[in-house]
Amino acid sequence: GRKFIVGGNWKCNGTNEEVKKIVATLNQGEVPSEDVVEVVISPPFVFLPLVKSLLRSDFHVAAQNCWVKKGGAFTGEISGEMLVNLGIPWVILGHSERRALLGESNEFVGDKVAYALSQGLKVIACVGETLEQREAGSTMDVVAAQTKAIADKINDWTNVVIAYEPVWAIGTGKVATPAQAQEVHADLRKWFQANVSAEVAESIRIMYGGSVSGANCKELAAKPDVDGFLVGGASLKPEFIDIIKSAT
Ligand code: 13P
Repeated sequence: GRKFIVGGNWKCNGTNEEVKKIVATLNQGEVPSEDVVEVVISPPFVFLPLVKSLLRSDFHVAAQNCWVKKGGAFTGEISGEMLVNLGIPWVILGHSERRALLGESNEFVGDKVAYALSQGLKVIACVGETLEQREAGSTMDVVAAQTKAIADKINDWTNVVIAYEPVWAIGTGKVATPAQAQEVHADLRKWFQANVSAEVAESIRIMYGGSVSGANCKELAAKPDVDGFLVGGASLKPEFIDIIKSAT
């Protein structure tokens, strides 16, 4: 089976003091063992070393982005090698906020995923449609194009997890219904079956993200193709522990 995975994407939030408090709360949380649920905490770059040093050892850390290739004269960027050097195992790539606000194209995200994997990082690759695209009936076309741009650049999906995050559900309180999430996750698996391999279609984990909360996670987690969550707002709060517990 696919091991459940829950990510906490803190986005651009937190002070030194708040970070210590959140980590202390996480460290006290009673959650299922690492064999049952993988937990990945993703603070802003500047807090990565602090979080890594304070966080319980059964939780892992992720960066929220990294540069598309080897480091060098790229002012303001953080390279994959730097993350590896600091012992950061995971990176989130292609988040919709970066696609929309920083202009990251499907191809650029595909290049980033390929480079991060080549450095030994594990990748949470985000895909998802806008409300306009959903209403136009093009959800699966959009998600397939985003996934294909990654598939064009990589062969080995072992260290990739997909996060399906419909843009209209992110930070809006408008969570996808369990049926809506299940439909896209199942369609994505079919896409992998047709375009990559039956093996990858079966083994790849697909997280859902967008207004996940302690209150709605259980119903979503019950769906067969929902293999975890990528959580924004609620990952800064104690209810994140309840979301982790929805793995069982
Ligand atoms: P929210 O949980 O705040 O809607 O954010 C979801 C998200 O973008 C996680 O990457």
